[in-house]
Amino acid sequence: MALNIIFIGPPGSGKGTQAKRLAAQHAIPHISTGDMLREAVADGTELGRQAAPIMASGALVSDDLMLGIVNDRLAKADAAGGFILDGFPRTLVQAERLDAIIGNGAEPLRVLQLLVPDEAIVRRIALRRTCAQCGAIYHLENNPPANDSVCDRCGAEIVARPDDNEESVRRRLEAFHRQTLPVATFYKVKSALREVDGVGPVDVVFERIEKSLL
Ligand SMILES: [Zn+2]
Repeated sequence: MALNIIFIGPPGSGKGTQAKRLAAQHAIPHISTGDMLREAVADGTELGRQAAPIMASGALVSDDLMLGIVNDRLAKADAAGGFILDGFPRTLVQAERLDAIIGNGAEPLRVLQLLVPDEAIVRRIALRRTCAQCGAIYHLENNPPANDSVCDRCGAEIVARPDDNEESVRRRLEAFHRQTLPVATFYKVKSALREVDGVGPVDVVFERIEKSLL
């Protein structure tokens, strides 16, 4: 039975970590449209050249462009046995047209929504530190480095990313809620939505996610 999953969760909710783990557990690809876009831009592909100026301006890439990317990716052999879509669909139009891409004979979509209150995310991100050299991520409370502000892995200094401040986090959360609400409602009406409490240790949240898929 193929697991066709859409993973929805606010920025800073731990969604990426959980999606990667879920993908490994079920041996299905984790398809992050954000990662795909960033890679395309870095590689300078045709898609990347189209998307780069849009992304640089902070705007959302058009529904048509996104649907093209997802259509091509889901057509690859490794997605035949299931997939986790992360970052897509982001609009109602994308959600409606995704049904056509997947087709009628496919396993129904399971839509996981990770629920984390805004306040918890603001707290989490304010204490987040990143290694400027190797990209390792720390949390001053839950996962601090052994030595103050020094990366365990490479010894470089760990710093707060410039956009990891409260104002910028709240702006990202607001945009997320505005965009995602219609998509979540779309799947709720179809009884495909599974809401999962995303507050707690990574292992506990992962267990809840697994249970919600049964
Ligand atoms: Zn490092």
